[in-house]
Formats: sequence, structure tokens, C-alpha cells
Amino acid sequence: MSTVLYKRLALIGIGLIGSSIARAAKRDGLVESITTYSKSEATRAKALELGLVDTAVDSAEEAVRDADLVIVCTPLSAYAALGAVIGPHLKAGATLTDVGSVKQSVIRDLAPHVPAGVHFIPGHPVAGTEHSGPEAGFAELFRDRWLILTPVAGTDAAALQQLHTFWTRIGSKVETMEPQHHDLVLAITSHLPHLIAYNIVGTADDLQTVTKSEVIKYSAGGFRDFTRIAASDPTMWRDVFLNNKEAVLEMLGRFTEDLAALQRAIRWGDGQTLFDTFTRTRAIRRQIIDAGQETPAPDFGRNRPSGAGK
Ligand code: NAP
Repeated sequence: MSTVLYKRLALIGIGLIGSSIARAAKRDGLVESITTYSKSEATRAKALELGLVDTAVDSAEEAVRDADLVIVCTPLSAYAALGAVIGPHLKAGATLTDVGSVKQSVIRDLAPHVPAGVHFIPGHPVAGTEHSGPEAGFAELFRDRWLILTPVAGTDAAALQQLHTFWTRIGSKVETMEPQHHDLVLAITSHLPHLIAYNIVGTADDLQTVTKSEVIKYSAGGFRDFTRIAASDPTMWRDVFLNNKEAVLEMLGRFTEDLAALQRAIRWGDGQTLFDTFTRTRAIRRQIIDAGQETPAPDFGRNRPSGAGK
């Protein structure tokens, strides 16, 4: 099936996620043309050089003017200013969506700028790698991964269905959710694990009693898997924590309590508590593999499929 779903696609920001959408949309013939506006001239030139887009323009307003589908693919801190710039130039009947990792803040920052007659449907592909920029993307990134849409009240059913179809044809499994619920679920499944990885790698780096060369040398003992997550983009992740503050603090509170319980078990030699906890968590990993959301290899499923990145 190669029916065009939207004539003109505009990508605002064309890094890992934006360029992966461009690759998949082109591969599957989902759009007739793609234009992009990205902040730096270098990224716009790279997007053209890689053949990701048909045109790369100098301003966000120009990018969205004739677009039927606009996808904001920048870090969250850019949204509010971009919303103010693009709002007046969005075409009547167009759909405005995004890929941001937090959803309540996106609605706060974009919704006030969306004119009547434009369909605003926030979205989040639960797929990524620790790499950034237009060269890091690949068309298969979204295959068999979840895409969460968090429509606001009064969303047009036909526009929602069309966006649902767009992501399904890219290869995603699509789910709709309340924005607040999305932010809570992602706080525990994505945001907290990143915070823990950043923290453990930072702690290891600070240690005086173990040299850094030993940390690197013996990293296969578990540390290595954290370093992959902790190599994720600092701008993106700073913005995630600043914009999902309440949910992350809530989950961090629970995590700290549970960690204290394990600390007590170690201190008092309570092997049963340790054994029971580790047995329970092992079953969770099994369930994730069975659900097709991970490979058995301990690499967070981030090895690229062969031929990816083209
Ligand atoms: P990325 O590779 O760093 O790309 C970000 C892009 O945004 C770059 O092209 C950058 O342009 C552009 N940009 C930054 N500020 C801009 C502005 N003010 N106006 C226009 N363009 C601007 O980041 P990414 O990984 O694709 O992440 C993008 C979004 O996807 C984030 O909101 C993130 O929360 C979400 N997300 C990421 C992942 C992941 O694993 N990476 C997964 C799911 C969702 P220049 O290069 O020109 O500066």
C-alpha cells in the first residue's frame, strides 16, 4: 500500500527522531514532499545532502506555511518559542503533532498558539538511541515500538485516525493515553532509568579508591550497560527532567524508599529479601522480551539492524 497520507510534511528539527521520520515517510511513500527547518545552517545542509528532505528553509514559519502535517522534533525547551512563531502560519485543516518525551508540558507550550481549524495532536514515539543528529536516524527506528498519542479534548476523529494510520504505516504500534498518565508511565519506564544511569556513571567517575582505568577495564560487570544510556543527549534529557518534574520526583521518592529497603537487607544480612526481590525483577525482564520490546542481549536493544541508517 503506497497511498499518500499527507501531501506536504514539515519537520521542525531534524535530528535523530526527525530524520528517522523523514527516512520512513519517504521509504513508505506516506507524503509527497518533505521540508525542514532546523536551527543551524549545518543541519539544514546535512539534511539536504543526505536526501532526507526536498527543501530546507531558513525559518519555521516558511516551513509550516503550506504543510499538511507539521511535526515538531526539537528539544522540549524550544517548543514555547516555536509555537508562538509557527502558530499564525499554520494552514487551516493541517495537523500539528510532535515527538516530545513529555506530554503535559507540550500541551502547555503549544496549545495556546494553535489556531482554530488546525488539528493539534501531541505524540511520543517510545523509541530512540543515545545518538543525535540527522546522520543518526534510521527508517526502522519505530518498527514494533509504541507510539503514544495524547489527544486533547475535542480532537477531530478523522484527523486523529489519519495520524494513527501515518504512524502505523511507519511500523509503530499506536496507543492513545491521557497526557498526565503518559508522563507518569514514562517517568518510571524511561526518565528514572536515565537519571539512575547518569548518576551511577557520574559516581563511578568521581571515585577515588577505584581508578578510572579499572572502571573501564571491568565495565562488562554491569556498568557498561549504564554507560550507553548515560551517553544520551544532555540537552534532551535536561529538558525532560525540567518538564516532567512532578512525576519524576514522585517516582524518585518511591525508588529511594525501595533502595533504602535493599540497603537495610544488605546491612542485616537479610538474604531472603534480596533473593525475593531479584527473583521478582528477573520475571519482569522475561515479560519484556516476550512482549517483543527487547532482545535477550543486554544492550538495551539498541544495536542497529543491518542496513539501517541509510
Ligand atoms: P536531536 O537528535 O538532538 O535533534 C534535535 C533537532 O532539533 C536538531 O535538528 C536541532 O537542530 C533541532 N533544534 C533545536 N532547537 C531548535 C529550534 N529552536 N528550532 C528548530 N530546530 C531546533 O534530538 P532527538 O533525539 O531527535 O530529540 C528530539 C525530540 O524527540 C525531543 O523532544 C525528545 O524529547 C524526543 N524524543 C527523543 C528520543 C530519543 O531517544 N532521542 C526518543 C523519543 C522522543 P540543529 O542541529 O540545527 O541545532
